Amino acid sequence: MKTLRIRLLLLLLIVIQSCSKNDSIDDDSGIDNNPNTVIANQQPTGTSANDLLSDNTFTSMIIEVVYVEGFKPTQNAIDNFVSFLENRTFKPNGIAVETRAITSPGNAPYTNQEIIEIEDANRTKYNSENQIAVWSFFADGSSAENTNSNVVLGTAYRNTSFVIYEETIHDLSNSTFEPDRTVLETTVITHEFGHILGLTNLGTSMVVNHEDTEHAKHCNVESCLMYWASENGSGLDNLLGVNSAPQLDAQCIADLQANGGK
Ligand SMILES: [Zn+2]
Ligand SMILES: [Zn+2]
Repeated sequence: MKTLRIRLLLLLLIVIQSCSKNDSIDDDSGIDNNPNTVIANQQPTGTSANDLLSDNTFTSMIIEVVYVEGFKPTQNAIDNFVSFLENRTFKPNGIAVETRAITSPGNAPYTNQEIIEIEDANRTKYNSENQIAVWSFFADGSSAENTNSNVVLGTAYRNTSFVIYEETIHDLSNSTFEPDRTVLETTVITHEFGHILGLTNLGTSMVVNHEDTEHAKHCNVESCLMYWASENGSGLDNLLGVNSAPQLDAQCIADLQANGGK
């Protein structure tokens, strides 16, 4: 049981450190005011929160789900992701998902720069006049940033882009004493997208200060999806035996609502 706890604790460090490291991605390109260019989709994480949350500029959303053959996320996780978006964003003309496989880029473990290059080589959807585009990649390998004590499950690295290390998720789910794969996938996908929606204090202003003082850009509510780690809340250790991912708490939802979301 102790081994289990240790393992799960490591597991929960994952999501979290992965994000904290990439929450503050350097940007030397500035914000492009023309939404109809590729560069509009190459901005820092959190800067398109209002565009994603509201229908002020974009009334629909297209999500590219691209995976390496053999590493397709479960359909339930994709459905949960779309439900999460429908519950939090205003897109009256709909949220569409396009799923397709690519062959392995072949250079795992992947550095952040390699993940960016894979996106740039394979992404086909960019913002158009009324539709905002999102890129997600499900990798056939691990992150090059993994260490003995920190395993990265996913990273939100641009304003409309995130990567999920699906091979690592396979290694850590669906066996004895491991979480259900769909629950783990849903947790990581929605946590990373929470950052893209500007949580916490990452492009979406806080109505009331609830940023974790020790873990920047994360919520200080232990049961919240955006908590950096929660040993007795709904953190990853609590994913064992449960059939749904942690939810956003009231403060994170209030922040999204104040920035144009539901
Ligand atoms: Zn995070
Ligand atoms: Zn929260």
